[in-house]
Amino acid sequence: MPSEDLQGETIELLRELIQCNTVNPPGNERPAIEHLERYLRDAGFETEILAAEPDRPNLVATLDGEGDGPVLVLLGHVDTVLADAGEWRHDPWSGEVTDGFLWGRGALDMKNQVAAEAVAAAALARQGWRPAAGALKLVFVSDEETGGDVGAHWLTATHPDKVRCDMLLNEGGGESFQFGGRRHYGVCCAEKGIFRFNLTAHGVAGHASLPRTGDNALLKLAPVLAALAQQPESFELTDGPAAFLRGLGQDPGDPSAALARIEAEDPRLRTLVEPMFGVTLTPTMTSASTKINVIPSRAQIRIDCRVPPGLGEEAVQRRIAHVLGDLAQPLAIEFTERVVGNGSTVESELMRAIERWISAHDPGAATVPVILPGFSDSRWFRDAFPECVAYGFFPQRHQTLLDAAPLVHNADERIDIRDLGFATGFYFDIIGELLG
Ligand SMILES: [Zn+2]
Repeated sequence: MPSEDLQGETIELLRELIQCNTVNPPGNERPAIEHLERYLRDAGFETEILAAEPDRPNLVATLDGEGDGPVLVLLGHVDTVLADAGEWRHDPWSGEVTDGFLWGRGALDMKNQVAAEAVAAAALARQGWRPAAGALKLVFVSDEETGGDVGAHWLTATHPDKVRCDMLLNEGGGESFQFGGRRHYGVCCAEKGIFRFNLTAHGVAGHASLPRTGDNALLKLAPVLAALAQQPESFELTDGPAAFLRGLGQDPGDPSAALARIEAEDPRLRTLVEPMFGVTLTPTMTSASTKINVIPSRAQIRIDCRVPPGLGEEAVQRRIAHVLGDLAQPLAIEFTERVVGNGSTVESELMRAIERWISAHDPGAATVPVILPGFSDSRWFRDAFPECVAYGFFPQRHQTLLDAAPLVHNADERIDIRDLGFATGFYFDIIGELLG
């Protein structure tokens, strides 16, 4: 099928999805999910809607092959974060196409991918294609942006047999970037863990009009904040980032030098890739006295801490010791969240198929593994089905990582319509290649 036709149909479907307001909370994803259900049923899919809450359903659309074989899931969430229309150049729920871009909340995260996956699969189904064996499943879910309690988490826990898979494609990677005169596409193979904690300093209360009467706990945090502002580089290199550096022709044994070269290429690129390499400590909240005229006997900073996949609390303790040194001694450290990051192997048939497609459709370009500093619904599938190879990949050739990353969750979210055709072509081809 000519890629222009796929692009036109993907633009249409993406516009319709953006016009369904699915800001979460509250989500209200039912109209978007039902629209996708009709679209895929008309193309020949068997469809089923599964819901923990009536207004927030999930869709499983299946095309079966003959007998046992690999199951490929194309995953996507249809909910979005909020948008303040006053900050946008175009209405965030219009799906307007202007200047070569399709505008709207969800145009990059991730109604774009949902539309591309659906159009590619529907085009194959309508022309009579079926998997040789196994199955193709499109799984479109609610509730990713607030954690998946009625979306992917619920679906994998409550109906594992309906969504069990060997290979999965989801969000989290695929934007291209230039390095060393070559275009690279990141394939997201892992996601960082979250180890949030509180740092608390103690002192003695007193009247604020007599500053020397007490022992001000808040002031004890000043050098701590200064140290957090001047953090040295952190390196806890896991498989994905090591393969990333090798893919860029850099030595994983000297990540500091590699980062300097990435910075020389473009400082914005360093900002986006450096968190992959180690533990990040980001102070985001503070509290101290509850009264303006009382010297606080207790003051607290809350730290949002992200840890490379597979690593745990020891890595965080190492990082705290490295950044704070003796300053950490008098502080109480209390973890409030401990989630170990998840990942899939970087060596797989799925990875090789993605690499082959990129070299065939963007000659001279290469793929490299990347890890997501946040997390996505891939986590629930990796937890439920440990054998499953799950990657984030939506190839964007024209709108680069540096262009796209600042628009996600921000005003004027938009996608280059040429990339809608490019990505839909990718899903169309990869489904055929993986399932025969
Ligand atoms: Zn998303």
